[in-house]
Amino acid sequence: MDEKFAVLRAGKNYHNGTHGHGYNTMSQALDDGAVVMAYGSFVNKVINFVGVGLALYALASIAELAAEDPIIKHTVKCKYCRKRINAKAKRCLNCTSWVDGREDRDENSQEGHVESH
Ligand SMILES: [Zn+2]
Repeated sequence: MDEKFAVLRAGKNYHNGTHGHGYNTMSQALDDGAVVMAYGSFVNKVINFVGVGLALYALASIAELAAEDPIIKHTVKCKYCRKRINAKAKRCLNCTSWVDGREDRDENSQEGHVESH
């Protein structure tokens, strides 16, 4: 994968090289003075980056099983202000609403109280 590349501008031996038409390896192309886009190297680095990320996430998940304080803070969206808050929170950090919706129930019961008068 590291050797994948596209020739943007061919060198002077592109058409009559020792290996026929074109280049077989990156070093051939670079020795000939060609301009190449080495996308194989980029794809390789992306795969490595994602791999390291997944490995660290797995390590953090394993450590979370043993530790009291979690490393990965799972979040949910507050249904009142749509901001992300901790999944274990009882009240929203941003709008101070009760996550279990007890204020909605209080409002409804108060309306019912007013109507009964
Ligand atoms: Zn909120």
